[in-house]
Amino acid sequence: MAELLKGALAAKALTESLREKTAALGGKGVTPCLALLRVGSQEADLAYERSALKRCEQCGVAVQRIVLPEDVPQQTVLDELTALNTNRGVHGILLFRPFRGHLDDAAICAAVAPEKDADGVTAASMSTIYAGRGKGFAPCTAEACIRLLRHYDVPLDGKRAVVIGRSFVIGKPVSMLLLRENATVTVAHTHTRELPELCRQADILIVAAGHRGLVGKEHVRPGQVVVDVGIHALDDGSLCGDVRFDEVEPIVAAITPVPGGVGSMTTAILCSHVIEAASR
Ligand code: NAD
Repeated sequence: MAELLKGALAAKALTESLREKTAALGGKGVTPCLALLRVGSQEADLAYERSALKRCEQCGVAVQRIVLPEDVPQQTVLDELTALNTNRGVHGILLFRPFRGHLDDAAICAAVAPEKDADGVTAASMSTIYAGRGKGFAPCTAEACIRLLRHYDVPLDGKRAVVIGRSFVIGKPVSMLLLRENATVTVAHTHTRELPELCRQADILIVAAGHRGLVGKEHVRPGQVVVDVGIHALDDGSLCGDVRFDEVEPIVAAITPVPGGVGSMTTAILCSHVIEAASR
């Protein structure tokens, strides 16, 4: 049986240390504040918002919510961001994205003040991750993967890591963070050939394909650590990941469950970014 890398436990430990930091900031008259900007009411956004609100409350982070209608003009979104950027009481901004339809996702991301970019969407934040210079934050989910592995003392230095997925939100930044930890990293994607064989070569397999049940017993071998980033809602309301957990768990050394894995850690990382921004 594999060790379960439970995000909830790792997030609890981080939340406790963050609460101490917010208390110390409170003593200096600073309350860290996260602004959430959401357009429309998609269920996935609402679910993430609920867990972010809960985590912020636990960490002592104040929240300002901006909710705009589906048909909001692009300029209104940009104006809201300008107001948040100049509001000295707001330290971090989280956008529920990608923005679709008539809204220009790239232009909206670019309008976030880099020092308040709590989820690594601006060019300045990406530069920190890719060039290793600057003070930008990594996308919360990518950082959550690394922090979860660290919490469970999974060695990364010199290990072979395979990341399935090359998005700017997870695949690419998590690959850069693994490189920073001195892992040898291979990034797999939809054009990768012989994916099962490649995955079996990994010591650490990070699965962020957004493809339900993509990874099964043919992709793994004993001794591996598997991080399942995927989240899919099933018709009965339950959640599952990109990994066929029942097949993979009996084979590997350790695995993150879905739910209760990376997702739980993501909101704690978000709070850590807001608190760090507030303390600067
Ligand atoms: P995305 O669709 O932007 O990117 C998916 C990537 O996986 C692409 O680069 C694609 O090339 C690759 N891919 C897709 N199918 C593949 C296949 N069959 N073989 C090999 N590669 C394949 O998705 P994303 O935004 O990176 O999110 C990935 C998953 O993570 C989704 O399930 C999403 O719901 C989940 N997610 C989880 C959290 C969390 O907190 N746990 C946060 C954000 C996203």
